[in-house]
Amino acid sequence: MKSPRLLLALLAIGVVTAASAQEKVLNLYSARHYQTDEALYANFTRQTGIKINRIEAKEDELLERIRNEGANSPADIFLTVDAARLAKADELGLFAPIKSKLLEERIPANLRSPDWFAFSTRARVIVINKETVKAEDAQNYEDLANPKLKGKVCSRSGSHPYNISLMSALIAHLGEAKAEEWARGVVANFARAPKGGDTDQIKSVTAGECGVAVSNTYYLARLLRSDKADERQLMERVTIIWPDQKSYGTHINISGGGMLKTAPNKESAVKFLEYLASDDAQRYFADGNNEWPAVASVAVKNPALEAMGKFKADSLPMATLAKNAVAAQRIYDRAGWK
Ligand code: FE
Repeated sequence: MKSPRLLLALLAIGVVTAASAQEKVLNLYSARHYQTDEALYANFTRQTGIKINRIEAKEDELLERIRNEGANSPADIFLTVDAARLAKADELGLFAPIKSKLLEERIPANLRSPDWFAFSTRARVIVINKETVKAEDAQNYEDLANPKLKGKVCSRSGSHPYNISLMSALIAHLGEAKAEEWARGVVANFARAPKGGDTDQIKSVTAGECGVAVSNTYYLARLLRSDKADERQLMERVTIIWPDQKSYGTHINISGGGMLKTAPNKESAVKFLEYLASDDAQRYFADGNNEWPAVASVAVKNPALEAMGKFKADSLPMATLAKNAVAAQRIYDRAGWK
């Protein structure tokens, strides 16, 4: 017969094991909040038994929060959008490097760094008012600086990550001097001072306040798929142009994330990132915001994206965009692109 003490010890081990098995959790800080997210996360919990605690907030707020929480942060994963934002988190030393064969195989090399991974892509396209701008005059980002478009260009702030990343790409392709010349040319063509988000620029183009703007593809897809007839009708007034198809291709950006250095649940965190690269998760993740999956073999059926047609995407590594972000901001400042 076993001693009561041994029995107690065995019991205690059993209790501890049961408790830790029950408490498999993942703390997710996410800037995403789309309809398909419930299914995306529920599917992970079903497959792994790991419960997800989600904190959702605006992209920049989450980063601030993680910084303020410091070593005590409960966050395991930070999901956000834009290479410039991921780069900022990386630069602050918030991410832990991950070695995962699965992630390396599934996510193309230009869409990841050792510390973070893209799970979907979006493109930054040109939108013109069919009546006031000729498509042939706005085929490339470079054209936005052409005096032909004087008084016709609308833009959001030069400090916004989407425009920072676009400038980072132009620096890589044209060099800093040419990129700055471009920024000055675009500023000289402004119809008004920069304000609002991408959707505001699209609406200004449809209203005729401006003739041309740039926008991320998912904002256009949202309007194309809108429940509101008047929003769908707006889109009949514009032409969407894939810029720079004859050279380096249209600038793309990402949404993605990584594991935090201070993550209390590292094993669950890696499992979650690997899960996001799976076929099912890729579909949910991309389609939730009218984006393209990062994993090339995964296709989504999205009528709005299909309506925009096929295009050549810039293959520049996201890490290069990240690296040029500081220089990009300086160029916008010098050019007066507020
Ligand atoms: Fe956005």
